[in-house]
Amino acid sequence: MSLDREWRFAYVNQTMERLLKRSRTDLDGRGIWECYPDLIGSAYYRTFHEAAASGASRTCTAYYVPLACWFEARAFPDANGLTVLFRDVSRERQQSAQLEYHADHDYLTGLANRRRCTQVLARAVAQAAEQAAQAQVAVLPAGMQAQAPQAAGVVVLFVDLDRFKEVNDAFGHAVGDTLLCKVAERFRALLAPSAFVARVGGDEFVFILRDARPGQAERFAGTILAGVSQPFQVDGHTLLLGASVGIAQWPEAGDTADTLLNHADAAMYAAKAAGRFQFRVFHLDLAQGLRQRLQLRADLHAAMADDQLVLHFQPQWSLPDGRLAGAEALLRWQHPTRGLLPPAAFLDVLLESPLEPAVGLWVMRAVCRQIAAWRRGGLTVPRISLNLSARQLVMPGLAGLLADLAREHEVPCGLLDVEVTEDTLMTDLDSAAAALDELRHCGISASLDDFGSGYSSLAYLTRLPVVTLKIDRSFVAVLGSAPEALAVIRGVIALARSLGMRTLAEGVETHVQQRLLAEEGCDAAQGYLLGRPMPAADFAVVMGQSVVARGD
Ligand code: C2E
Ligand code: CA
Ligand code: CA
Repeated sequence: MSLDREWRFAYVNQTMERLLKRSRTDLDGRGIWECYPDLIGSAYYRTFHEAAASGASRTCTAYYVPLACWFEARAFPDANGLTVLFRDVSRERQQSAQLEYHADHDYLTGLANRRRCTQVLARAVAQAAEQAAQAQVAVLPAGMQAQAPQAAGVVVLFVDLDRFKEVNDAFGHAVGDTLLCKVAERFRALLAPSAFVARVGGDEFVFILRDARPGQAERFAGTILAGVSQPFQVDGHTLLLGASVGIAQWPEAGDTADTLLNHADAAMYAAKAAGRFQFRVFHLDLAQGLRQRLQLRADLHAAMADDQLVLHFQPQWSLPDGRLAGAEALLRWQHPTRGLLPPAAFLDVLLESPLEPAVGLWVMRAVCRQIAAWRRGGLTVPRISLNLSARQLVMPGLAGLLADLAREHEVPCGLLDVEVTEDTLMTDLDSAAAALDELRHCGISASLDDFGSGYSSLAYLTRLPVVTLKIDRSFVAVLGSAPEALAVIRGVIALARSLGMRTLAEGVETHVQQRLLAEEGCDAAQGYLLGRPMPAADFAVVMGQSVVARGD
């Protein structure tokens, strides 16, 4: 369209007629501000006037409410007045608004996402820092002690759902997604006006509290835990969840958004490690622990490369006749500066590191290689057990792999046994049962480790092709002192018998324990009393001096 120098319509083209939904005969010769009084003072109004006054072209984009449209207007002044080119940019605007929304929000739950979370946290920290700085500048009479300014704290709560993966695995992703939406809904309802919540990962959420008073973080963590533990109804299923919460507070736990988030994450991790369904506040020791873990992880890489891992072997004895029934291979790390480390010093770091499969494979190969070496030395080798992690057990092709390794080293599969824990089995019972079946077909037996320390749901036992039940150390330890312990062990032995399983008691440390176990009909035992875990060479001596039990 063109406007004359009196702001009257001089020309309106067809497109403009369509955009304005007005015919040109309607507009020709009339003043634009009369026809569109609502434009007065708008961005268009200012732009047109600027263009006219400066003699140079001007552009603006603005929303025009009566037509519900975004227009881009480019005004070109000339001697006759102003020519304006309009373009409807509503569609582009909408798309970019949508893009902006999705850049900041999580598709599934509609909560803010990690990107936005970091932005909000950075802003909250900057504001709090500014407030604190102002409080410090406040002039105090000379000689008067400045009272520590009660800076408004910023609190980050990192929430990770406990066992969410199990829901996903058991009921499928659709149910998992719905559950996440319900969790998000519940979290949103917990929010006070100045609080903020985001979903920052699969089952990870972050709350940010501004102006937090002392103790508020802990109370809010309690609220989150209570909120999440109320049952959820999804598709006719009643689902129970837990959560682990890590708290990081500004300024104690860091002064940037990234540090605070990392430290809240670390604290959450500590809450999980301490047994889940609780919260932990980040403090410096925790940071130190974190650094140590990172160092350990780096060292583990070197350990693999430099061949610092070794296996020790702990003998297992047949109780009725005192013959050597087998041995358990236990992992050790000959650390260059810290000496010989037991699994407790590194296993949890290992299990969550990408090195885990490599170490698992190393153990399997090392066991086979060692058996082969002993056999070449003329020893009669009993069955050797090796410990499998949860992930290893359900690794596709595990049985084939282990059987291949055995064949490669000319070790009969009957000399191999794998130990798995209840926890390992319960994570994915079907896959675990299938894996144990495959192993059995290859002639490799299985032991249920630490029996009694975990779920102790007896129902699943019947489904598993397990040859040996290893009675947990905790039961054996109280044998002879707590009268119930004997009853429990008696029960376990009877149960194992009825299922056709053999029993092996772990952690036998006293003669009394050994005698009681033998009297109760326990098949085998392992423990410091009967032999500590020892280097391969020492176990060779034990084998050389013992009669090896056969066919149990
Ligand atoms: P576990 O499978 O229950 O192994 C038995 C643990 O009890 C061993 O600790 C052993 O040294 C200890 N022990 C044996 N007899 C006695 C006793 O009479 N009294 C006491 N108090 N303890 C006794 P270790 O070698 O430190 O291993 C700890 C855990 O590390 C093992 O527990 C096992 O879960 C894990 N582990 C060991 N080697 C491997 C491996 O190669 N792979 C995997 N995934 N895990 C392993
Ligand atoms: Ca074991
Ligand atoms: Ca055990």
